[in-house]
Amino acid sequence: MKLARDGEGPEIFQSLQGEGVSVGVPSVFARLSLCNLHCHWCDTDYTWNWEGTPYPHANEADPAYRKFRREDEILTLSIEDVAARILGFTARNIIFTGGEPLIQGKDLAKLATLLCERDPSCRFEIETNGTLVPPPELDALVAQYNVSPKLTNSRNTEAEREKPEALAFFAGCERAWFKFVVADQADLSEIDTLRERYSIPRERILLMPCGTDSATLRDSSTWLAPLCLEHGYRFGDRLHVHLYGNSRGT
Ligand code: SF4
Repeated sequence: MKLARDGEGPEIFQSLQGEGVSVGVPSVFARLSLCNLHCHWCDTDYTWNWEGTPYPHANEADPAYRKFRREDEILTLSIEDVAARILGFTARNIIFTGGEPLIQGKDLAKLATLLCERDPSCRFEIETNGTLVPPPELDALVAQYNVSPKLTNSRNTEAEREKPEALAFFAGCERAWFKFVVADQADLSEIDTLRERYSIPRERILLMPCGTDSATLRDSSTWLAPLCLEHGYRFGDRLHVHLYGNSRGT
């Protein structure tokens, strides 16, 4: 499996779930490398923004920013090895994140199967951009999908970010929760359009303020919270930002 490298090892760590409906739950995060999108503001661009690719990134405003060397950022490990590292932590809520973890959906199914054999108390969440349908053998083991469809502000084309088959799958799956980071009030009409187009139940939609520090989140919350009330969407904070800022592996 291809995992994001963090120092000498893979980016597998224990922390509290920071977003969504299981916020605050002690969890093990496994960050997989590779993504099929290229969001302009992505904060895990070390999983996909390789040298030689044409995608612009907001961080290019910093003259020191460089695209990543693929071979420096990917660690290829066996499924056995990944399972052992995950079980080395105490939490059994296991969150596969990325990148886009469903690119490696078949390997994730094998990994989840192995983890359940070793400890049946394992529970799995998948963080996904909602563009890929999970393979059935993985879906059978997943307790919760945290689906984060991308909007125009991501600068992916509509054809890249809106995959009808995948969005219809998640809309029809009661284990899928949709979470949108809202940068400005114009995003609301796009979210409403997606909700109507795919019949996403309103009560499974969360809106989160945009920001990578507590002060910005608080400022954004002051206009987002009333909009959640007005539109009937759940408000979601970003606990990990309040606790740890924007640091990696927390
Ligand atoms: S889908 Fe997620 S990981 Fe992929 S580019 Fe967008 S924000 Fe980054």
